[in-house]
Amino acid sequence: MPLEKALAAALSDHPRFGQIFIQRTESGGFVLCHRDDKNVRDLEIFRKGDDALEIARYDDGGKYRPLKTAPNLRRGWQLELVDLGELRRALDYFYPGRVAVLAAWTEARLSTTPLRETLDRQSGMYRIAAKISDSQIDNVVGNFCKSDGGCLRTILWKRDARGAIPSTRLPPEKFDPTHDQTGRGENTIPALCQEACSLLVAECRKAVKAETDE
Ligand code: SF4
Repeated sequence: MPLEKALAAALSDHPRFGQIFIQRTESGGFVLCHRDDKNVRDLEIFRKGDDALEIARYDDGGKYRPLKTAPNLRRGWQLELVDLGELRRALDYFYPGRVAVLAAWTEARLSTTPLRETLDRQSGMYRIAAKISDSQIDNVVGNFCKSDGGCLRTILWKRDARGAIPSTRLPPEKFDPTHDQTGRGENTIPALCQEACSLLVAECRKAVKAETDE
């Protein structure tokens, strides 16, 4: 399994993925918990990769999490998994698609899409998003994608085909896969963003609409 191989290699010196702490067990399994719960006892125990779907669904306040890489993963759980296959399954629920993107990036076969290309190919009610100005992009991306309160992914895409940076409001570390986006400076597997998500596209549309409705 190439994805599992990539995951195992990444885990060998990075025991964290986003907000998750991952420990190997002697029997070849894995124990996961929220990074803030590393030293907490009496966590609620789960034992199937599929349980991650439920754990990741709501934040600590019971609010639905539309963006799974937002820094609001709930606490209080421990997920015990028998092997690497189950770990991959669980991580795909916690951070959908991120293990596959990591594997492609590690093998230098990941392609990224400039934001303007993503916006240009929208249809229906989202077509208007392509009308967004560069300065609006600067603000929208700066607010929506920021690691502190926005999203923990490392941005690999550019603003346009000329290679402009997505937002001058984001620090250079936001584009650096070696940086721990939680800001703790710990060894962490990066959750990579190879193209703008649908939520960012919706934000771009909102910005254009706000201006045209004025
Ligand atoms: S575009 Fe990428 S970095 Fe920005 S919010 Fe969406 S997933 Fe996160």
